[in-house]
Amino acid sequence: MTTTPAVLILLGPPGAGKGTQARMLEEKFGLVQLSTGDLLRAAVAAGTEAGKKAKAVMEAGALVSDDIVLAILRDRMAEPDVAKGVILDGFPRTAAQASALDSLLAESGQKINAAISLEVEDDAMVERVSGRYTCAECGEGYHDTFKVPEKAGVCDKCGSTEFKRRADDNAETVRSRLEAYHAQTAPLIDYYAAKGVLKRIDAMGEIEAVAAALDSIVKASTA
Ligand code: AMP
Repeated sequence: MTTTPAVLILLGPPGAGKGTQARMLEEKFGLVQLSTGDLLRAAVAAGTEAGKKAKAVMEAGALVSDDIVLAILRDRMAEPDVAKGVILDGFPRTAAQASALDSLLAESGQKINAAISLEVEDDAMVERVSGRYTCAECGEGYHDTFKVPEKAGVCDKCGSTEFKRRADDNAETVRSRLEAYHAQTAPLIDYYAAKGVLKRIDAMGEIEAVAAALDSIVKASTA
């Protein structure tokens, strides 16, 4: 690992596996997963001003305003655990967010180690996203077709019997989220390619195969 905290960005449409892979990297490399989607959902649940503004936008599958997202991100980046290095999951999503991230990192003398694009086919994403759910206790991810708990209704990881589904994980909203991805976020692939930090991974395969490809990239870019 480098002495300055590593900064890894996971790019990819909803359903590409950013959250799943970020959680695995967090465990393997001791990095901190920083998901703006999770932070926004927490703000919605807590009923903060930012959460109230974000709620309807998220339910419609559109992007929350840069101002709100950047304020939430700055607060989270100021917390001490981030010094271990971060995996940005779902951020940046617009050109303005990417340039704000550059400024934020420059202030602390940090750089982006790698921006990794998880490449998938849109059609498969609708099925992936509409069938997914998580353990309400530990956050382990499951899927109606692709990953069911070994014992029906019981989380493999922590034994909880409570599960939850995201309000925006339905076929209609996924299509809007995919549109937002292509219009506003996919251009960042070129942005990071121009900076020389872009890596691409075929993310249509098994979770473990994608994880292995990611491991190599993370090791090489943080060596
Ligand atoms: P995610 O959990 O990353 O799929 O994000 C869920 C929703 O939160 C998105 O559909 C957006 O409405 C919102 N969101 C999350 N991250 C961002 C971001 N970086 N910029 C704008 N909106 C975001």
